[in-house]
Amino acid sequence: MKLQWLGTAGFQIEAGDHRFLIDPYLTRNANSKPVQSMRPHDICDAGQIFISHGHFDHLSDVPAITAMDSSNVYCSKTAAATLARKGVDKNRVHAVTEDGYTADFGGYKAQAFFSRHVKFDIPLVARTLWQIGSNGPRLLNMHLGYPKGQVLSWRFMIDGFTIHHFGTAGSTPEELERLASHPLDLLLVPLQGHTRIYDVACEYVRVLKPRMVIAHHQDDFYPPISTAVNIDPFLIKVRKQCHGTEVRTMEINETITL
Ligand SMILES: [Zn+2]
Repeated sequence: MKLQWLGTAGFQIEAGDHRFLIDPYLTRNANSKPVQSMRPHDICDAGQIFISHGHFDHLSDVPAITAMDSSNVYCSKTAAATLARKGVDKNRVHAVTEDGYTADFGGYKAQAFFSRHVKFDIPLVARTLWQIGSNGPRLLNMHLGYPKGQVLSWRFMIDGFTIHHFGTAGSTPEELERLASHPLDLLLVPLQGHTRIYDVACEYVRVLKPRMVIAHHQDDFYPPISTAVNIDPFLIKVRKQCHGTEVRTMEINETITL
């Protein structure tokens, strides 16, 4: 199985004849770091596209990707309505309305679980507002055009692996305990949205006990809304506290084989 990190919360997963995308967001902006050289038209035949929530940094490239292939999209009702407004054929968008929704693609399975968005903390909000300055109204408008909707975390069972992807880290302890009943090979956990996100993300690892964890969404994907997150405190904490979990980092567009 091959896994490629596309920046922010975006991944491309490939195994045998199967390929799918999670939260693909490539266009970013001119000041984003690291630079993403790929564009939606570089993705051909995405297969299926799974979306964690409706915010622009998870959803806004989906219309351009689906315009060039025959992929189907799986997302919340709210994200489906956004895609319809952006001109995506509604027959290709499947709204997930049920916690535990499962789809079998004859080679891999995808399962959606209701989750929650990370709560931005006051120091982070204050710093972001200061950075945004006079760009506020324009950026607020963009944000309002992509409402969050129901947050979904996605579990994939493919090629003998169980992978769990979170696009945002607002899960309750009960939610994580429930998900922990299923053994996990690979956890994809986002490091964004809170000043102490490394503590939040480490709790995911502690409860879910994956064999491997890859952190994502730590990049400076849309300054001045975003800031690069230092991943080191997370790596140190996991190595110290979560024995049995291998932690690794990925460069943008890097592909690893598992
Ligand atoms: Zn979000």
